Amino acid sequence: MGFNIAIDGPSGAGKSTIAKRLANELSFVYVDTGAMYRAMALYFLRENIDPKDEQAIAAACTKIDITIAWQDGIQCVLLNGENVNGYIRAEEVGIMASNTSIYPVVRTKLTALQQKLAQTSNVIMDGRDIGTCVLPDAQVKIYLTAEVSARAKRRYDELIQKGEEADYHQIEADIIDRDYRDMHREISPLKQADDAILVDSSDMDIETVLSVIRTIYEKAVMKGKE
Ligand code: C5P
Repeated sequence: MGFNIAIDGPSGAGKSTIAKRLANELSFVYVDTGAMYRAMALYFLRENIDPKDEQAIAAACTKIDITIAWQDGIQCVLLNGENVNGYIRAEEVGIMASNTSIYPVVRTKLTALQQKLAQTSNVIMDGRDIGTCVLPDAQVKIYLTAEVSARAKRRYDELIQKGEEADYHQIEADIIDRDYRDMHREISPLKQADDAILVDSSDMDIETVLSVIRTIYEKAVMKGKE
C-alpha cells in the first residue's frame, strides 16, 4: 500500500482545491472520487435514465467502463474511453451523481477502482466515504467541512467569476439537499470517521487550510517513523 491521505466532507468545503494543491506539493497522485460518480451520472443523464429506477441504473452500469488517466498531473475521467472532464462539473450532473450514488451497484464498481489506485501509488483521495469505507487504513484522515452559508458563498462567487448566472438562494438550497442525501443514505453515508481529524474551513482561506492539513500530514509521517 502507498501512503494514503483521505479527505472527506460535504460539497463545497474545499476538498478538491486543497487535495490538488497538496498532491502537487508532495508529488502524490490526486484521486477525485466525486468525478467518477459524476461520470456515471453523465451517462445516466445522456441515456435519459430515471434516477429512481434502480433496475435501469443497474442495467446501465453493465455498459459503463470508467477509467482514470493523468495528463500533466490532471486527472481525466474516461467514460467508455471518452475524456468527460469538460462535462461533469455542471450542477445537474452533481445532483444526478448525488441521486444515483445511493445504489450499491454504483458504489461497488467505483470503490473497487479507487482501492486499486491507492494500492499502487501514494494518493490523496477526496470524497464522502474514503476514510470510512474506501481506505479505512489510510495513514491520514481529514474531515473537511464548512458552514452551509460559507460553502454557498464560495460556489456563488466561483460561478459569477466564470461569468455564469447564479442564484445564491438556489445554490444554498441545493447544498442543503445534497448534504442531506449524502449524509442519510443507507450505504456509505457521509460521516466523519472515528479516527479522522475535523477541519472547519468556514473562516479560513485556502492557504490556512493547506497549512493546517500539511501539519497534520507531517505529524503522521513523524509518528510513522517513531
Ligand atoms: O464531490 P462531488 O461534488 O464531485 O461529488 C458528487 C456526488 O458524488 C456527491 O454529492 C456524492 O453523492 C457522490 N460521491 C459519493 N462518494 C464519494 C464521492 C462522491 O457518494 N466518495
